[in-house]
Amino acid sequence: MKKRLGLILLSVVLTLSLAVPTAFAAPYWKTSADYNETSAPYDSFTYYSEIAETLREIDTTSNRVQVEVIGQSAAGHDLFLVIVSDPSAGGRLGRYQAFRNTMLKDPEKAHEMMEKGNADFKVPIFINASIHGNEQTGTDAALRMLKTLAYEDTEEVQKILENTIVLINICQNPDGRIANTRSNSVGTDVNRDFITQSQPESRITVEQIVRWNPMIFLDLHGFVNPMLIEPCTPPHNPNYEYDLYIKWALDQAEAMGEAVRENTPYNYQIPYRDSSAGWDDYPPIFTPMYSMYHGAYGHTLETPSRSEGGVDAHYHAIMAAATFAAENKMEMFHDQIEIYKRGITSYFQDEKGFPEAYIIPVDKENQMDPVQAARVVDFLLFNDIEIKEARRPFTADGVEYPAGTYVVMMNQPKRGLANTILWEGEDISYDISSMYDISGWNIPETWGINRVAVTSEFDAQLTDVDKAGYPKGTIPAQAEYYVIPNNTNNAIKAVNRLLDLDLPVGMVTGELEGFGVGAFLVPAKGNNQIMGALAKEYSLEIGGVSEIDVEVKELRKPKIAVHTPWDAEFVLENMGFDVEYLSETSIRNNIQDYDVLVNYYNRTNPTTRNAVRDFVSGGGGYVGLGANSIAMASGTGLLDISYNSGGSNDNGIIRVINDPDALVTANYPVEGFGFVYRPGWITHVGEGVSIAATIIDSTDFFMAGHWRTRKDAQGSPVIVYGDHGDGKAVVFGTEPVFRAHPEGFFRSVANAIFYTLN
Ligand SMILES: [Zn+2]
Repeated sequence: MKKRLGLILLSVVLTLSLAVPTAFAAPYWKTSADYNETSAPYDSFTYYSEIAETLREIDTTSNRVQVEVIGQSAAGHDLFLVIVSDPSAGGRLGRYQAFRNTMLKDPEKAHEMMEKGNADFKVPIFINASIHGNEQTGTDAALRMLKTLAYEDTEEVQKILENTIVLINICQNPDGRIANTRSNSVGTDVNRDFITQSQPESRITVEQIVRWNPMIFLDLHGFVNPMLIEPCTPPHNPNYEYDLYIKWALDQAEAMGEAVRENTPYNYQIPYRDSSAGWDDYPPIFTPMYSMYHGAYGHTLETPSRSEGGVDAHYHAIMAAATFAAENKMEMFHDQIEIYKRGITSYFQDEKGFPEAYIIPVDKENQMDPVQAARVVDFLLFNDIEIKEARRPFTADGVEYPAGTYVVMMNQPKRGLANTILWEGEDISYDISSMYDISGWNIPETWGINRVAVTSEFDAQLTDVDKAGYPKGTIPAQAEYYVIPNNTNNAIKAVNRLLDLDLPVGMVTGELEGFGVGAFLVPAKGNNQIMGALAKEYSLEIGGVSEIDVEVKELRKPKIAVHTPWDAEFVLENMGFDVEYLSETSIRNNIQDYDVLVNYYNRTNPTTRNAVRDFVSGGGGYVGLGANSIAMASGTGLLDISYNSGGSNDNGIIRVINDPDALVTANYPVEGFGFVYRPGWITHVGEGVSIAATIIDSTDFFMAGHWRTRKDAQGSPVIVYGDHGDGKAVVFGTEPVFRAHPEGFFRSVANAIFYTLN
């Protein structure tokens, strides 16, 4: 429903903004029409449509303020960064940034410069306001702070301006502010997206964090009473330099809390100090936790209420944090630089469990998906991780790698972030009774690439990389049929493009020599130009055959109905599928108009179940994602299966055995992985049901995450499929599209759709 609403609002915005004349020359000063915004929850509430105008006024009347548009939200609304500093600093921003460059490249020198008084710097404080759109107070408190710093001359203001640069992301989630939703217009909780970065809002903020390396990062939320101010309860992620963080973060939190107590009727709590569990900083999905890997003292602030008082509490807290930073600037900044120094000097490397380096192979021998490997390299670079490329072949830990192999040396300033992205994660099931959110996100395993952790020193000729090299797309000079190997998400995108053009595309359901099961076939005659273009665009190494002696299924563009959270729709649309969200009522009335239903829920209403059963037995496809969808398939009788499921918050990375002959798991490695969240598994496989993936029958099947009762699932099938009447069904006990994160599994959902398509 949220998604529908977002789309309707967007179209209203577009229509109205066309009708309104541009009032100011500069592009971002455009006055926006009223977006059918919800009524103000408190007096000082600022509508999104008023923000540009408000910032313009401040920018033109205060010489301490600069405003930038740093990007657009999913629905196309501007995000603003406000830079506040004393007027003399305006011209020196370049010099400050040069010093910040020194601090990353040569932290020892940066320390020396500071000690000798040779460094000209102010410390950046980043205020991230209202990432959850219905937690409105953050933006209003940030605007109030901005006005104070822009116009007042109190001792406090002077102190802040003299010592800091205040950076304010004034409305981190415009779509959510406009529609009064937690998420953006896509439906994404942006404050769960920082290790995935699927949304523009998170990517924009990552860019600013990388640009400024803020010393303080404050993320303004609501609503918890007494006001909640981080640092967090355990477990703390071992990839942090937590000792350096907590040395200042606790005192800073207390300074914020005391300011709230003195100036408002509210009290405060600090999870680290006042609780033993339940509010952890373990996963890097949250904005402040992510910022900590860039050296920030990161805090989430949960103001007590959606009211003027809630704005007050945020305001006094962030002013106190800025004052605290100004007063302790030298020591705090020294310790921030110490984080980078530890990284570069490999301080405590073994004790931290960091390897010497991570290797990301790109050659066929060592890499299952070279396109995805390039994508991970670009992701690392975007996140300010240093990457090298081997000029010549080299050997590491006894394995030989060719020239062109990527190497992530771990002696680098942001090694903690590099490790968080590239490690194998940890099984923390018994470290703590329960977790606030996910506990495993392993990018190599979930994004579908091979990476190798090298533990001993090695010799290699390495050069810096600033951009990943994608495989050069090729097509064979001669063939009767072109073959698109089914081994990367881009293959699916190319196939959907071909189907959009109404070109004949087949899917091999048996094994095609050299390409395995699931490869896509296109007649070569007359198609060499389009295939050459697609090969280039999607970095595909397209093959060729002169004859086909296996069964081929003819494909057409499926009309897909989704009954899922936002992620399935987002992922499938990104792969080029035509997708529509159907409510439960629409399923009852209209499911017959579609080819495939992708379902996440267990609907028990008999009318709904009958509609789904009739749909599949009449030839429709059912693709179920997650434990609830298995319950639905079982309860509806689509598949003769019994099942079991884990707890609602059990999650992590599992090891599975894939059947390489099954279409769903075509071209996945036999020893593969899955991501689970509230895991589902099959306890009885009945007549006509086949298994595509099975959880390995070993106690160590659980690689990373939090799942105590997992023993029950060991050795059980986790992806199964079969016929029902004239239709077909596939169910995943895993979560192959969870929050658009596990990219390596997206292709299996596409395969399931093609498998069930009649
Ligand atoms: Zn929130």
